[in-house]
Amino acid sequence: AQHFLRRSAEHADLGAFLVQDEDVTLAQARAADVLLASGTAPALAGVPIAHKDVFVTKDFPTTAGSKMLRGYRSPFDSTVVSNLASQGMVTLGKLNCDEFAMGSANENSAYGPVKNPWDIARVPGGSSGGSAAAVAARLAPAATGTDTGGSIRQPGSFCGITGIKPTYGRASRYGMIAFASSLDQAGPMARTAEDCALLLSAMCGPDLDRDSTSLDVPAEDFSRSLGESIEGLRIGVPKEFFGSGLAGDVRACIEAALKEYEKQGARLVEVSLPRTEMAIPVYYIIAPAEASSNLARFDGVKFGHRASHYSDLEDMYKKTRAEGFGEEVLRRIMTGTYVLSHGYYDAYYLQAQKIRRMIADDFQQVFKQCDLIAGPVAPTVAWQLGAQERDPLADYLADIFTLPASLAGLPGMTVPAGFGEGGMPVGMQLIGNYLQEARLLNVAHRLQ
Ligand code: GLN
Repeated sequence: AQHFLRRSAEHADLGAFLVQDEDVTLAQARAADVLLASGTAPALAGVPIAHKDVFVTKDFPTTAGSKMLRGYRSPFDSTVVSNLASQGMVTLGKLNCDEFAMGSANENSAYGPVKNPWDIARVPGGSSGGSAAAVAARLAPAATGTDTGGSIRQPGSFCGITGIKPTYGRASRYGMIAFASSLDQAGPMARTAEDCALLLSAMCGPDLDRDSTSLDVPAEDFSRSLGESIEGLRIGVPKEFFGSGLAGDVRACIEAALKEYEKQGARLVEVSLPRTEMAIPVYYIIAPAEASSNLARFDGVKFGHRASHYSDLEDMYKKTRAEGFGEEVLRRIMTGTYVLSHGYYDAYYLQAQKIRRMIADDFQQVFKQCDLIAGPVAPTVAWQLGAQERDPLADYLADIFTLPASLAGLPGMTVPAGFGEGGMPVGMQLIGNYLQEARLLNVAHRLQ
């Protein structure tokens, strides 16, 4: 823990951490030492981890990357954090992220951007950019992330690390600050699939009393099949993931990784996910709709920021929200409110829900032909900081390959697959059917 605290201080310019507290971390480390000395410590006891700042923690403030929650301290720990703490893991601090997890580059944080450790002129991806940068720069051996539309997979890919978003409902959302509740999932980000398997096993499990969408399936040992042969495994390669929008350097890395799987005895099967492009408008209707409802709680009364000058209650709400939310969050609240309003609901929100169902059905058709799906995580490597700042649409379009699995609630992960333009890392995405995380992790492990 001391090593990682020191390293984080040395690399504070990356902007990965929002808050650290040496006293808290070292007290947890000493408690882990006691556990280790007892001889009955769980596998992860004493291993340091840092948490994305959307997980509420009682020992550290939680901001979700927003000015709205500056100085907020939760009276309790989120289930994911407490599950990991009960394994004896030691918290190194809270990690920067896009405000309320809305973004693909970590440029939407109220506390400044995060830099990509491979090239500090580039973005680390988002919204779990602090998590990806911290693991890549070895400021932490592991981190938590959240993925609503790609926020574990895409920054993982941009920073050359491994990360997995489990099946929707595997990890409890209790104490995870809500963005889009029907999509939000927590997951681990670490160096290898093996590390992710250990972490995922510790994070997940039913939490039925506190999260109504928690899956009633027992916690699993996700590392149980690591090392199994992939002989005869059918890997589906969706042709829509390899269209003209895919950069040549990324394509080359993914194709090389697929060849490696063939060498190991897997069979590649061309499949089709015909509604891939529709995932963008569908997601950017549903996610803002849910966000506009979830973010209604930030009104200056219960949490965090409150405007200091106002004339009456309504004026207080208005000023608080105008001051507390950043530009992208305001954009999503307005979009979300619009698509839910009378007269537009049927045309936008309801249509989007119908296509969401079709996207999920498309995957079930594909899983009749293959055991898992492989393709790129993102169309390009990490872009330059500031390059897309004035163009939110450019960020939205870059989410094309991660959104379909999110809308379907399927598990997806990123595994490093090589290096592209400028020596930047390229991640390969693996998507499995529901509850197939162990298989995904094994297939990722075969590349490491
Ligand atoms: N980039 C997507 C968005 O901005 C996904 C973010 C996420 O997964 N939290 O909404």
